[in-house]
Amino acid sequence: MSQPENRPCIFCKIVAAEAPAKIVFRDERVTAFHDLEPIAEHHILIVPNRHIASLNDLGPEDEPLIGYMVGVARQIAAGQGFADKGYRLIVNTGAGGGQTVFHLHLHLIAGKRSRFRIG
Ligand code: AMP
Ligand code: ZN
Repeated sequence: MSQPENRPCIFCKIVAAEAPAKIVFRDERVTAFHDLEPIAEHHILIVPNRHIASLNDLGPEDEPLIGYMVGVARQIAAGQGFADKGYRLIVNTGAGGGQTVFHLHLHLIAGKRSRFRIG
C-alpha cells in the first residue's frame, strides 16, 4: 500500500454502526452520512461498505460500485431537494490529493459554503 492507512478505519466503524454518524442512506453496498465538519449547507459522504482505501485501490470489477455510488449521490441530492439547484461530487485521492480518511468516499456538497477546505 503506497498511501497511509488509518486503521482501525473510522468509516468502517460507521458502516458497522460501531461509531456514531448521522446516517442519510444505507443498503448492502453503500452508506451515506453527514460529514462531521461540513464545509457547506449540505455536506454528505457516500462510502462503500467494503473497505477500499482510495480510487487507486479500485479493481476493474469495482466500476459498477462507483456508478452505484454516484447514483446514490444523485438520489440523495433529489431527496434533499437540491438536485436542480446544483451540487458537487468530489473524490480526494491520496495524501497529495487532500485525502485524510483512507476509505474511499464521495463528498456530496451543495448550498451555501461555510468553509473552503475542499476544492
Ligand atoms: P477527505 O479529506 O477527502 O479524506 O475527507 C474526509 C472527510 O471525513 C472530512 O471532510 C472529515 O470532516 C470527514 N470525517 C472525518 N471523520 C468523520 C466522522 N467520524 N464522521 C463524519 N465525517 C468524518
Ligand atoms: Zn474502512
